[in-house]
Amino acid sequence: AKSEPDTPICTFNAEMDRSSREKTQMVHDLRLALQGDEFELVYQLQNALETLAPVGFEVLLRWNHPVRGRIAPDEFIPVAEETGLIRDIGRWVLREACREAANWSRPFSVAVNVAPQQLVQPSFIEDVMDILMETGVSAERLELEITEASIIDDQAHTLKVMHKLKALGIRIAMDDFGTGYSSLATLQAFPFDKIKIDRSFVQDVHKDAQRAAIVRSTLLLGAALDIPVLAEGVEVEDELHFLRGESCASVQGFYFGQPMTRDDMRLIACEQNED
Ligand code: C2E
Ligand code: CA
Ligand code: CA
Ligand code: CA
Repeated sequence: AKSEPDTPICTFNAEMDRSSREKTQMVHDLRLALQGDEFELVYQLQNALETLAPVGFEVLLRWNHPVRGRIAPDEFIPVAEETGLIRDIGRWVLREACREAANWSRPFSVAVNVAPQQLVQPSFIEDVMDILMETGVSAERLELEITEASIIDDQAHTLKVMHKLKALGIRIAMDDFGTGYSSLATLQAFPFDKIKIDRSFVQDVHKDAQRAAIVRSTLLLGAALDIPVLAEGVEVEDELHFLRGESCASVQGFYFGQPMTRDDMRLIACEQNED
């Protein structure tokens, strides 16, 4: 007779052991990554829907690991969050992004993702102010993207931080809208300046009646609340076409291109006017 496979509990333990070893290794490597200059930013265009003109860039983090090569943020950011390393990494991202934005010749906005722990860090406001001063980027050009998960920990404190940021002129976008467990309540309780509809709703929106209904409702909601809506993850013309019929302010996605290297971004953002 065929022997039974390993009992589930053993497999589980072996896998846990391996993944916990991998994680320990990653924590170790992450600590060295900032000093080793292993992080890189890439830049994804955000375009006005009506004119399709570029209006800004979202900054996305990449890790060029010396052995493993490029590691996607979905793999290492959760680990960086768990260990608190995200605070130093996040500060680096913000500084680097603002250093770049300071050289742009066009009045683009720069959108930076902010992790939950950064937001509630006592020095966060001061860090942001220091970076703006040091780089000379005006607060009005900075947009911070936060997800609902950033808020669930300490709502009262988060609200205070958001009000301080807004008083400085910084805008705050609600990222991944619709994927949290109380997106509407969150939207009501916090002073967001922009809604980013998650790409899971935008994908195939022209073919999927349910997604179409969700996207349409979100756009109506944004209009009613006077909050501009950006649709993420636009990949094909049909999705763009669907959105054009609605009151969507701006769009972002592979249809306009993959996130760009710094050099490619500079070709667009530092373009000289030819009179
Ligand atoms: P996100 O903030 O929702 O960023 C958008 C992600 O969707 C990016 O993946 C981007 O490359 C991808 N994307 C953009 N357009 C399209 C499209 O048309 N189709 C598809 N399929 N995907 C598209 P990426 O760069 O791998 O980032 C994943 C997540 O990692 C981000 O999701 C964000 O939550 C996090 N992340 C990235 N950079 C940072 C950072 O500097 N700090 C923090 N805290 N989190 C970051
Ligand atoms: Ca984002
Ligand atoms: Ca998003
Ligand atoms: Ca996301």
